[in-house]
Amino acid sequence: MSVQENLNRIKGTLPSGVTLVAVSKTKPESLLLEAYHAGQRDFGENYVQELVGKAEALPKDIRWHFIGHLQSNKVKYIAPIVYLIHGVDSYKLLVEISKQALKHKTSIACLLQLHISGEETKFGFSYKECGECLDLLSAKPLPGIQVIGLMGMASNTPDDTVVRKEYRELSLFFREQQLKHSGIKILSCGMSNDYLIAVEEGSNLVRIGSSLFGERSYENG
Ligand SMILES: *Cc1c(COP(=O)(O)O)cnc(C)c1O
Repeated sequence: MSVQENLNRIKGTLPSGVTLVAVSKTKPESLLLEAYHAGQRDFGENYVQELVGKAEALPKDIRWHFIGHLQSNKVKYIAPIVYLIHGVDSYKLLVEISKQALKHKTSIACLLQLHISGEETKFGFSYKECGECLDLLSAKPLPGIQVIGLMGMASNTPDDTVVRKEYRELSLFFREQQLKHSGIKILSCGMSNDYLIAVEEGSNLVRIGSSLFGERSYENG
């Protein structure tokens, strides 16, 4: 199946109002262009150098989502390019993003990442920490930063009931925070294997890589 056929098939399963981010990490620019010519504009990358290189080479109306784990010392490279940073998992990182946004005279939209799976390897705030961070930002906003939602990754398990429970909890927390804080509108969850469950539970942004572009030949993210 071509990228265009995959894109149409996936879009056909998404309710209106759900944004599809095409996760293109490790994939060549030619494949991104296939998706672009089929109308796709939101692309997600995990590695700073790769995002910077692709952004230079590819059309300027692409909206680049940084979905990987971001180190503070690399924020400066993506600050002028990135459309949305999904994986913010500390207040310290928000402070650095704010600093770089001001330096580049821009404003950067961010999602706070929640650690929702039982797995130890995934990054993210606990629910309690995330709630405290949002309270702090509401009381004392950081200039150049807009926190517009939350992101999470469910456990990597074939057991759908576990995945559904994790996304349901995240979605409930998202709606609670929406009532407390203005501007919270994006819930980024769901990947190739579990996005239909995520959408049923309330996701409005899915990040899909392998079912769109094919399996990745190496995996280090
Ligand atoms: C790689 C990645 C995805 C896409 O995963 P697929 O299973 O290929 O759809 C989504 N989100 C994050 C954070 C990723 O690192």
